[in-house]
Amino acid sequence: MHPEEQLSAYLDGELGHEEQVQIETHLENCSSCQSLLLELTDLKQTFSSAIYELAEPDDLETRVMQAVARETSIRNLGKLWIFVPLLSVMVFVLLVITAGPIVIPLMQGVLVIGRALLYTVSHAVADMPMLSGIVVILSLIVLFASVLSIRKVLRSTAM
Ligand SMILES: [Zn+2]
Repeated sequence: MHPEEQLSAYLDGELGHEEQVQIETHLENCSSCQSLLLELTDLKQTFSSAIYELAEPDDLETRVMQAVARETSIRNLGKLWIFVPLLSVMVFVLLVITAGPIVIPLMQGVLVIGRALLYTVSHAVADMPMLSGIVVILSLIVLFASVLSIRKVLRSTAM
């Protein structure tokens, strides 16, 4: 007698030890049950891969949703990048507005000192050798240019 009905349970490891040994003993001597067991194994594999494929759409959906979420977050990040220079400009403007009372007198002070320096230097230059005079005047021009450019930047940003 062939234990055909028990082969599936045997395959799933659902049998007790005694029954399992019985079937294994039978399988050793019965090619018909061996091929049936192989068929059952194939069937089980097909079934589990079918289950897997049935589960696949869910997985696919999850992956698509994740991809969409990732894409959306990247796009949002891209939008955020537009706000970064805007935000830094706003911060700079705020800084100028809040620090303006400090920065502007400071600039005026620098200008006053510069003018005083120029006045002193213009008198001293007369007694200086030609080359030193040119160097001093050039450095003063550079100083004034940088002060003016800073003022210009501050004014244009404040507006
Ligand atoms: Zn058999």
